Amino acid sequence: MKFGEMYAKDFLKGKKDNFFRQNHCDRCRKPIKDWRTTSWFTEDTICNICGEAEKVLREELRQAGQDTSKLEGCGYIPKVKGKLT
Ligand SMILES: [Zn+2]
Repeated sequence: MKFGEMYAKDFLKGKKDNFFRQNHCDRCRKPIKDWRTTSWFTEDTICNICGEAEKVLREELRQAGQDTSKLEGCGYIPKVKGKLT
């Protein structure tokens, strides 16, 4: 079993209740209507817009040569090396 899978299992056990009750996005604080996801980097429950932003970030990290598999569940939002913002 890979680390990522183990993490996801433990994570779902502990957070499941909150995940379905929560009605706002942890990241942008906007209300979540129907589509929600779990942040790949942190334990935040986030909306689809923030989820898409993470996907873009992961792609940018990959393109910058950073190992995104090590960043899964790291607890913070990583910065892309060499990017100014
Ligand atoms: Zn959001």
